[in-house]
Amino acid sequence: MTKVCIIGGGPAGVMAAIFASKNPENKISIFDRSIILNTILPTGGGRCNLAYSEFNFKELAKHYPRGEKFLYSIFSRFSTADTIDFFETIGIKTYTQQDSRIFPVSDSSKDVKQALLKQIAKPNIKKFFEKVVEIKKTSDGFCVLTDKNTYSFDSVVIATGGRGSGQKLAKSLGHNIVDLKPALSSLITLEKDFNALSGISLKNIEAQVFFENKKIKTLSGDFLFTHTGISGPLVYKISSYCAYLNFNKNNPLKICLNFVGKDFHEFDSEFLEILKTNAQKDIVNVTAEFVPKNLAIAILEKEKIDLHTKSGQIRKVDREKISKSLTALNFNAVDVTKGEEIVTAGGVDLREIDSKTMESKIVKGLYFCGEVIDVDGLTGGFNLQNCWSTGFVAGNAIL
Ligand SMILES: Cc1cc2nc3c(=O)[nH]c(=O)nc-3n(C[C@H](O)[C@H](O)[C@H](O)COP(=O)(O)OP(=O)(O)OC[C@H]3O[C@@H](n4cnc5c(N)ncnc54)[C@H](O)[C@@H]3O)c2cc1C
Repeated sequence: MTKVCIIGGGPAGVMAAIFASKNPENKISIFDRSIILNTILPTGGGRCNLAYSEFNFKELAKHYPRGEKFLYSIFSRFSTADTIDFFETIGIKTYTQQDSRIFPVSDSSKDVKQALLKQIAKPNIKKFFEKVVEIKKTSDGFCVLTDKNTYSFDSVVIATGGRGSGQKLAKSLGHNIVDLKPALSSLITLEKDFNALSGISLKNIEAQVFFENKKIKTLSGDFLFTHTGISGPLVYKISSYCAYLNFNKNNPLKICLNFVGKDFHEFDSEFLEILKTNAQKDIVNVTAEFVPKNLAIAILEKEKIDLHTKSGQIRKVDREKISKSLTALNFNAVDVTKGEEIVTAGGVDLREIDSKTMESKIVKGLYFCGEVIDVDGLTGGFNLQNCWSTGFVAGNAIL
């Protein structure tokens, strides 16, 4: 009999428990300081975006700003197709949305939670509503201290997510922890001209990102204004790739948005023609053919251009200001919106984990899975995929 302790009943810990428990000789104990699998409820806005429709594991791994290479061997064993099959076998049929994101057919994260809970309702899995506060290595295994009791185990899986508690436990056992940083966050910007547009979204916008006069990346995606700055999938991507840049008020991240997919010169000459053919229309209405009307108004007000100027009478200098705003609107991001991040970058150093088993290279019998390790993906189902895949590998290694 092998006594296995799983710390954290999130998607990763539960996945590890499901597979480790396939050996009836394994006695599994899941410890969670809160309600098991509650962290899955808000995913995908309550719909649970559980995977992404990319079936080539190397391509899939490209969606992880941290962990790409580490995930190769893991995804070669359990990837998108396996996730779909696994959920089908536990009664959750899935479908793929146009943007390649995969959801349960019921569009309900509650259903995913219930289906997973059924899988851990087994005689060889016990659940404890306790917080693990310390792990000690003993000569023949581990001593696990919780806020209520002390237990002994042969193997321990740390699956505590990105919030820091499991990383502390790993550190106390000798692991290096890569600094934890919020990723997939909204950004706070210096510009206040657009705060009144909070809630307005735009589809598939391109952004060029600069820091300390160096271009970091060109990214695209859907975009959203907030009352303190900018958000949406595009901004989440930016925050993820820039998670380790120390941007602030004195040294902001510069984000240059293009709303029309053309460069300034190309757009400006087309705009000139459009203004000529719509000479009698108010400039605000012509500008609003390219962006939502409220944004058109905000751009014109920022540039101090009268909204009701007839398009045929717009001065060259003003037309160029509008063209500039539509092709290169600049935002200075000074911080992430604290506490609202979707995922944490950083965690247990991947150099100290064997990706074939998820076992620690430092402490035999200690395993990791999910967000506790230094892996984080973009939005699109990648972070849950990391949980299913690393949970599967850890669970099978204990099997
Ligand atoms: C709002 C929101 C929406 C999201 N939507 C998606 C999405 O649609 N698709 C996607 O792929 N990803 C999504 N994510 C990310 C995804 O939810 C996480 O990456 C994933 O939940 C991580 O799983 P995990 O099992 O590693 O950790 P967690 O889900 O964080 O679970 C860890 C568990 O460990 C417990 N725990 C922690 N410390 C201790 C301790 N010391 N003792 C005992 N228990 C402990 C916690 O209570 C928790 O239940 C979303 C995240 C958020 C916040």
